[in-house]
Amino acid sequence: MIPFISQLPKVEKTLWISALNNALPNENIVDFNDITPDEKPHCKLAIVANPDTRALTEFKNLIWLHSIWAGVEKLMLSLSDSSIEVVRLTDPMLSKTMAEAVLAWSLYIHRDMPRYAKQQQNSLWQQHPYLPASERRIGILGLGELGQASAEQLQQNGFNVMGWSRTQKRIANISTYCGDEGLAEMASQIDILVCLLPLTPATLGIVNKALLALLPKGSSVINFARGAIINTEELIISLDSGHINHAVLDVFEHEPLSTKSALWQHPDITILPHISAPTNLNSACEIVAKNIITFRATGKIPATVNKTTGY
Ligand code: NAP
Repeated sequence: MIPFISQLPKVEKTLWISALNNALPNENIVDFNDITPDEKPHCKLAIVANPDTRALTEFKNLIWLHSIWAGVEKLMLSLSDSSIEVVRLTDPMLSKTMAEAVLAWSLYIHRDMPRYAKQQQNSLWQQHPYLPASERRIGILGLGELGQASAEQLQQNGFNVMGWSRTQKRIANISTYCGDEGLAEMASQIDILVCLLPLTPATLGIVNKALLALLPKGSSVINFARGAIINTEELIISLDSGHINHAVLDVFEHEPLSTKSALWQHPDITILPHISAPTNLNSACEIVAKNIITFRATGKIPATVNKTTGY
């Protein structure tokens, strides 16, 4: 028996459990609420989606968890002192979805859509110079599963793409940077900054006043990673001063974003309700199933999240 531990609404939970049982006909995946106290000690692995930590502690003999989400920051924080290993979702379909979102919102900024939308509100007919994509410089923070796919998508669409990661990367036709100096070097030469870093102690608030000041005047920011990676107050100051032109924010420290948040009304911020890359039920179930079948056959847990780096 494999518990499905999640705080998802009941309808969504039922959908996932049914799809996972279809993908794993030799397993019995059950809502954790329906597992009896006698059955709980027999569970060695669980499938999770942003689980409540208290629910996890009821399963004393868990060895590993398979997350159906790619982002596992909250889970890693709650398991920092635990021996339970975490396998996050690594899904080419998700990378494709994120790359599409990065392309879409980069084009939105590249083709001045926020500016023309404002002009329309004022019945203003005014043309601005066009810059070819090859002259638009886009820098991606994070060159992992999502960052690399996004960088390649942007490059294929003709943009001048750069990327920054913790360790040095080599990617064809993309200028890559690492370390503090590399970040400063990349930041000083980009028009659009795209954030695809995991949230860890090292990346918390990394997009702050100092980094924003390094971006050329008139640059824009897209955050598709986690809200707390950006210092929002400092971003607003940079937008209000005119140094930063526009920000597209899909993720926030507290979600859903409060209706009282001033971010909603800011003229230079586009708010998205965490939609850049939703997990695809079918491809995710296939991947989870493959990993669990391998574990049953070999006892090998797939690649786990590194508890030291936090991603
Ligand atoms: P990943 O494969 O683990 O890649 C993370 C990248 O960030 C790697 O290139 C890593 O560098 C780099 N990195 C980590 N810490 C760093 C640091 N301190 N300095 C510089 N670079 C650092 O993660 P992913 O699958 O691409 O996902 C990234 C994040 O996207 C997730 O953690 C999640 O928060 C977010 N996400 C958002 C959505 C959404 O819908 N908005 C959906 C899915 C995921 P190295 O390559 O050198 O290790």
